[in-house]
Amino acid sequence: MAPIPTTIQHFTHKHSLILHHDTINPKYLCEGCMTYGFGTRYHCHACTSNLHEDCAKCPRILWSFMHPHHPLRLVERDHQSGDRACNICRELIEGLSYRCEPCGFDVHPICTLLPETLNHILHQPHPLRLLSSIEQGITCVICRGACNAFSWRYRCALCNFDIHIRCVPIQCQNKTTHRGISTYFPPSILPQQHYFVGYPNPNNFPGPSNMNHYNNNIVPQLYQQNHGQAQTHYGVNYGGRINQVMFHLVKTIATGVISNLVFGVIDVSTIF
Ligand SMILES: [Zn+2]
Ligand SMILES: [Zn+2]
Ligand SMILES: [Zn+2]
Ligand SMILES: [Zn+2]
Ligand SMILES: [Zn+2]
Ligand SMILES: [Zn+2]
Repeated sequence: MAPIPTTIQHFTHKHSLILHHDTINPKYLCEGCMTYGFGTRYHCHACTSNLHEDCAKCPRILWSFMHPHHPLRLVERDHQSGDRACNICRELIEGLSYRCEPCGFDVHPICTLLPETLNHILHQPHPLRLLSSIEQGITCVICRGACNAFSWRYRCALCNFDIHIRCVPIQCQNKTTHRGISTYFPPSILPQQHYFVGYPNPNNFPGPSNMNHYNNNIVPQLYQQNHGQAQTHYGVNYGGRINQVMFHLVKTIATGVISNLVFGVIDVSTIF
């Protein structure tokens, strides 16, 4: 593996950026993609700007399983084309994004790091694949909230088994039958912290579950509604929007997949 460069030049910033780990203020806003990050980042000491390591490295052209037929181009937000939302997490795009212009497909750089497949203890016959589906009336096995048409989730299309992206790290309940067989069930109580930051009820989460279908017009309204503040287990203020937790969610799922983890067995919220 090539060593990580400690000083870089990036097209989004006029000064050189230095690889930096701030243990006192680990949380930062990436000024490339305008979503939050945690831990090591590229930092400009002259103007205290930060850039995700991933955004510093992301290629100008990307081929992704999320949009397999066309290349995605890394673009800076242009204010002429109005508000655009990320097809994967449904949050507003406020900085860099990968775009297929002819298809109107947009995705945050950080969201492109979600793994294509993962294994979950509640569906051992098949791996789950990150997919969208046009079917109506599907619910997430973990939170029982709706997986609305066109939303992206981890899914077994063969068995119609769906789990919201944000519900993947949640630990399931383990019960041992009277014959001594260990079986896993969806949790009876959902965690109120971690990925549910700011949303006392997961059904209020501004993700796929309460959006009817992809519609740019309703995004700004959602943005205002959910601009509240909330505490996380880090004890820092993350705000209430999914783009504030997406970094941690993506890293947790990606690290779990690299480690060959079967999701649902243990609480993975602390592995990253
Ligand atoms: Zn970024
Ligand atoms: Zn600078
Ligand atoms: Zn996104
Ligand atoms: Zn396309
Ligand atoms: Zn769910
Ligand atoms: Zn299946």
